[in-house]
Amino acid sequence: MLKKFLSMATLAAVFLVAAHGLAANYLGNSKSMKFHRYDCSTIKHHNAAHFVEFNTRDEALAAGYVACKRCNP
Ligand SMILES: [Zn+2]
Repeated sequence: MLKKFLSMATLAAVFLVAAHGLAANYLGNSKSMKFHRYDCSTIKHHNAAHFVEFNTRDEALAAGYVACKRCNP
């Protein structure tokens, strides 16, 4: 029982590290409610507090963000 718990915990830890290590593909600006490609020229990374990370466009759309017209994500 304990052994099973430990292997589950290890799996969860590995998954969390892997998920965290992946760079997000899209960034949503919570002020403008637009989302961008990660390298969009309108993104000012010193304002990172306003940005939410999304791995897919569907995630961003589901969260109510609209696509940026400049980078057309
Ligand atoms: Zn953009």
